[in-house]
Amino acid sequence: MGRNVLALNAGQPDFDTPAHIKQAAIAAIQRGETKYTPVAGLRQLREAIVRKLERENGLKYAVQETIVGTGGKQVIANGILATVEPGDEVIIPAPYWVSYPELVSMCGGTPVILSASAADGYKVTPQQLESVITERTKWIILNSPSNPTGAVYTEQELRALAAVLLRHPHVWTMTDELYEHLIYTGEPAANLVAVEPSLRDRTLIVNGVSKAYAMTGWRIGYGAGPEHLIRAMDVIQSQVTTGACTISQWAAVEALDGDQSFLGEWREIFKQRRNIVLDSLREAPGIDCGNPDGAFYVFPSCAQLLGLKAPDGSTLETGQDFVRELLELEGVGLVGGAGFGAPANFRISYAASEQQLLEGCRRIVRFCKAITA
Ligand code: PLP
Repeated sequence: MGRNVLALNAGQPDFDTPAHIKQAAIAAIQRGETKYTPVAGLRQLREAIVRKLERENGLKYAVQETIVGTGGKQVIANGILATVEPGDEVIIPAPYWVSYPELVSMCGGTPVILSASAADGYKVTPQQLESVITERTKWIILNSPSNPTGAVYTEQELRALAAVLLRHPHVWTMTDELYEHLIYTGEPAANLVAVEPSLRDRTLIVNGVSKAYAMTGWRIGYGAGPEHLIRAMDVIQSQVTTGACTISQWAAVEALDGDQSFLGEWREIFKQRRNIVLDSLREAPGIDCGNPDGAFYVFPSCAQLLGLKAPDGSTLETGQDFVRELLELEGVGLVGGAGFGAPANFRISYAASEQQLLEGCRRIVRFCKAITA
């Protein structure tokens, strides 16, 4: 018999790509736009990226300072592949998106994991950053809003980190801004380069259409940074994939240049869903959700429950055990925190309907109430 599993583990919006964006792709196919594009992307898309950066972030970039990749992931990978050599260190605040340390290790680099505490909202402090910078530090990777924690750095917090970075001119920053449009504080996203323009020459901005425009399957991401870095990334991309999918690039032009009004509507929906999860899980003993301001994830800690017994009598040693037992006993699918560098946590995605979220949280509460010493 099929089991009623509620999957709250999605890493993508549950909305469909808006019709006008799909239409732009269909029109591109019908015009015969089915050949290779330049490796770094269609000129029209790179110009749309330049306009986006100016309009939304107040940043001026030239077309040759931008690059289009097959998803934000390829842009991140190319940035690391182009720069990291064996022995180089890359500072990765934890909890982190799973791919950062793996990509650094692939290049023979050393991921330097910098644990941000729940008490600090899972954001690193300037003192913490200062304490791990060495002569071998190549990058720090900042992801705001964060997958998995939903943490969002404010302008003031970025300014404080920038002050540290200014003291260490050899350190580059990669800012992963894929969730930029999903912030629920009412404030726009703060941007490191806008906050401290002198860091522009050693910052790679990474963004894309995947999360904001519900376009994960179209595989379009982009980067903006100094031309010499972009050129090195272009060389790598030319040997690995060539330009990103031509049809998707035309869709992305429409995403960036076209109607943006649905973004605010989606943001409201996500905010309501987040509130449902936070309110519901207040009833769950031993679960600490914090106060995530962005993305579409809640990343609770179940540290207080570790060492206790699940309803089937087994001992919960890690967040992974919590997730496994919850799936087995209550049929709720979540992601354990180990892969994000936080083994006592788990990730709930609220890219799901309100009804699914209410039912999922009801089951999580019931499970937690049945945990015993
Ligand atoms: N950065 C973060 C923080 C993500 O969560 C993801 C996707 O899950 C990516 C980058 C990659 O995005 P894309 O699907 O555009 O490659």
